[in-house]
Amino acid sequence: MSLQQLADLIFPNVDKAPSDYIAKYPKRSLKEGEKVTRYAPSPTGFQHIGGVFAALVSERIATQSGGVFFLRIEDTDQKREVEGAIEDTIQTMYNFGMSFNEGMTGNNTSVGAYGPYRQSEREAIYKTFAKDLIQKGLAYPCFCTPEELEALREKQITEKLTPGCYGEYAIYRDLSTEEAIKKIENGDNYIIRLKSPGNQETRVQFNDLIKGETSFPENNQDIVLIKGDGLPTYHFAHVIDDALMGTTHVIRGEEWLSSLPIHVQLFEILGFIRPEYAHIPTIMKLDGPSKRKLSKRKDPESAVSYYKEQGYPKASVVEYLLNIINSSFEEWRMENPMVDYHDFPVALDKMSKSGALFDIIKLNDVSKDVICKMRAEEVYTLYTEWAKEYDKEMYELVTSHETLAKAIFNIDKDGPKPRKDFAKWAEVREKICYFFMSLFEKENVDQIELPKNMQLSEAVRIIEAYLKAYNYDTDQETWFEGLKAVAIELGYTADRKAFKKTPEAFKGMVSDVAGAVRAALTHRANTPDLYTIMHIIGEEEVRSRLGLFIK
Ligand code: GLU
Repeated sequence: MSLQQLADLIFPNVDKAPSDYIAKYPKRSLKEGEKVTRYAPSPTGFQHIGGVFAALVSERIATQSGGVFFLRIEDTDQKREVEGAIEDTIQTMYNFGMSFNEGMTGNNTSVGAYGPYRQSEREAIYKTFAKDLIQKGLAYPCFCTPEELEALREKQITEKLTPGCYGEYAIYRDLSTEEAIKKIENGDNYIIRLKSPGNQETRVQFNDLIKGETSFPENNQDIVLIKGDGLPTYHFAHVIDDALMGTTHVIRGEEWLSSLPIHVQLFEILGFIRPEYAHIPTIMKLDGPSKRKLSKRKDPESAVSYYKEQGYPKASVVEYLLNIINSSFEEWRMENPMVDYHDFPVALDKMSKSGALFDIIKLNDVSKDVICKMRAEEVYTLYTEWAKEYDKEMYELVTSHETLAKAIFNIDKDGPKPRKDFAKWAEVREKICYFFMSLFEKENVDQIELPKNMQLSEAVRIIEAYLKAYNYDTDQETWFEGLKAVAIELGYTADRKAFKKTPEAFKGMVSDVAGAVRAALTHRANTPDLYTIMHIIGEEEVRSRLGLFIK
């Protein structure tokens, strides 16, 4: 009995040869330097920020070279599949400023000449290659049950051997074709394994575009190519897909680095040209003194949805990720404050080789910079979009006071040092609510933040005097002179040196008086410039708030 018969018995419906597919997907015509990369998520529903990170690196590398960035859906683990996940992925990528030149465009739609772009629809392709390997004696059916494999594993571990199915432990590797056919006809369950020609004594040299030069022993494991459900493993699908789809650069998480010997071997066995590889570091987080992986269970910021809920502008997240990708981004951003981030050239060889550290504080700083450069109009639009979904009350208030809201968002925009009030939209309410009477009214005395060491009674004394002297229609300088006059009259001083020398001679500094006025008008100790606030809320409101405070 021949291998041909065995192959036909296992794959009776495969009527094509690998060469048919190789002809169907011709080599891409790329100009010098153009790169083809892909994002290849599994549609499990949960989108990890690490996915956006990997996609961003891939997208930037392809797009900035004028090449192709495509979306392949890796749904060979059908137990984990979640409905709607593909659309969700596409939308998320789009929201983060990435679009695909090729690949899935929806649950059942795609564009591009190298499809299908969904692995579950490529079953016939994988089987064609598997059948060919069986015919050539490079793959075989393995009849081990999961229990037998587990027992083997335990035995190997106790004997301090590398666990797995290889060499003498691969018990069906050298089964005769007759026996294999008999078992299949008998109805025994099986999977298809590679008959690895590798030798652990041989080392393979490898250049990873991020990690640099490495070397590893050749793979000698008879890894699974086709699972019991007829679908391929990641290894087999990766090699066939990236070869037929013409990927030039496989950019993926470093958790795949240890499988590289398998992939290198498979490319060789299948006779494909190997793409370049770049393994990107895992996103880590500082937990006390030690680093650990950003965890789906422990860290809300691991989920892409977190950034939307908190209201981080997409550009903030992208710029932050660019910071992690290449630390030179920060300097570039300083030198090119207004340039679109797409113009920053991402370089794989400048990426950190070890864990990329994710840090919310740094994200907040980046985001404050991003928001502070936006025009008030844009802040208004993005904020109301967010508030509509996550803070209905603020949405109503802000949209019904559009002019006021835009004036608030415009405070100190144009100076040499624009204010950096917001890192995310969820912070806006707390920072601007006092502008809106309906919210301000709801606050109580305990919320008033008085200047340090000032009693409420003293604040009331200040406000009484200030209300009497208050003049709305002045420029900022005159206004401040007015405030100073009240302060001096009440025993405060504008002379810092004098105050330092004999603090007991004064009630305090003018800044304390301003602090009392600030507390009366906003209940807060930290706000934008007081004069500006007074002009935004208007004379009537200023007088009424001062009056309210005295009461
Ligand atoms: N589906 C794989 C994953 O989500 C893709 C890895 C790759 O990019 O090859 O990890």
